[in-house]
Amino acid sequence: MRYSNDRPPVITLTTGPVNAYGEVLRGLGRSLLYDHDPAFQAFYERLVGKAQTAMRLSNKPVLMQGEPVLGLEAAAASLIARTDTVLNLASGVYGKGFASWARRHTPNVLEIEVPYNQAIDPQAVDEMLKAHPEISVVCVCHHETPSGTINPINQIGALVAAHGAYMIVDAVSSFGGMDTHPEDCRADLYVTGPSKCLGSPPGLTMLGVSQRAWDKMKANKDAPRASVLSIVDWENAWSRDKPFPFTPSIAELNGMDVALDLYLDEGPETVWARHALTARATRAGVKALGLSLWAACEAIASPTTTTIRTPDGIDEAKLRQAARERYGVVLSGGRGATQGKLTRIGHMGPTAQPIYAIAGLTAFAGALNALGHRVETGRGIDAAMAVIDTPPAD
Ligand SMILES: *Cc1c(COP(=O)(O)O)cnc(C)c1O
Repeated sequence: MRYSNDRPPVITLTTGPVNAYGEVLRGLGRSLLYDHDPAFQAFYERLVGKAQTAMRLSNKPVLMQGEPVLGLEAAAASLIARTDTVLNLASGVYGKGFASWARRHTPNVLEIEVPYNQAIDPQAVDEMLKAHPEISVVCVCHHETPSGTINPINQIGALVAAHGAYMIVDAVSSFGGMDTHPEDCRADLYVTGPSKCLGSPPGLTMLGVSQRAWDKMKANKDAPRASVLSIVDWENAWSRDKPFPFTPSIAELNGMDVALDLYLDEGPETVWARHALTARATRAGVKALGLSLWAACEAIASPTTTTIRTPDGIDEAKLRQAARERYGVVLSGGRGATQGKLTRIGHMGPTAQPIYAIAGLTAFAGALNALGHRVETGRGIDAAMAVIDTPPAD
């Protein structure tokens, strides 16, 4: 049997965007209220309240009209002034990329970079902060999605706060899939979105903003205003009594509203647990197949993405194409510096269910066998099932 590239696949096990929850897709079909209609303004205020609850914030988050790259660019543009010194932490493609946005706003950018299968060591951050008292903004990516690795942002955030600097966090592909919130890591700007672990379509940014970040952005003469990159413009837009700077993305907000209801009703802890279990089962399967995880150690392996090092002699793109053609399963490849070196199985939102570990492993193992790299598929499945069927510790 062959699945055509011209037809949708059977299962999408990507690392975002993900196939949205069915309820979210139906939510996208709600009628589009006029943004000046009081009913829409009341809806928007409630929606921002739900995002605040989900993000466990003590103030209102900002919803921006563009997928989180817009939020990241806006964070750099709004917070960083030409007098700032930025410390950029790079353990992967996104962290590395942030420096290019930071450099648009200040010439003073320092960096700590580690190999892309490792995590940032808080000790190194501490030493850098001590050696450079002038560091005023620290930027870090929580889950380096192209590597499937997690940085210790709560520890890093405590050091940054003690130093008195501001911290910008990219938590786009971790928020909603594990226990991470802006105030836990003391982020000043915490950028995430609904299109990864919340299982909603791409097109929006959710942004946590600390009070001191508001003060700094409002005082920053270089911060964009009357612009899609402006954060400052949206400060009071959550309130039904205040106008929007420009038209909100109404359909996507309808979808996100459902995604937040699903997340809060299921219970965040329950949602995180199924992400973690799916990842644990997948990792056990990968190892039992005799393959290597990309992450230098399992302690830093993401609960929302499992990353497998491509065996020598295998063309990674052909491997994913075989999984799609033979089984209708879409997996993610690497990005930038990790392209061609690894394959990623996403466990985000609706696919963060243990049974998808079996589907992902089976498709991956079948594709490897098809390319002539022999693995015993059953071994991987047995190992994953053993994890899935282990009763919880408590
Ligand atoms: C998905 C993602 C983003 C958003 O960027 P796109 O590549 O455009 O989807 C930003 N940061 C991280 C870490 C992400 O995983």
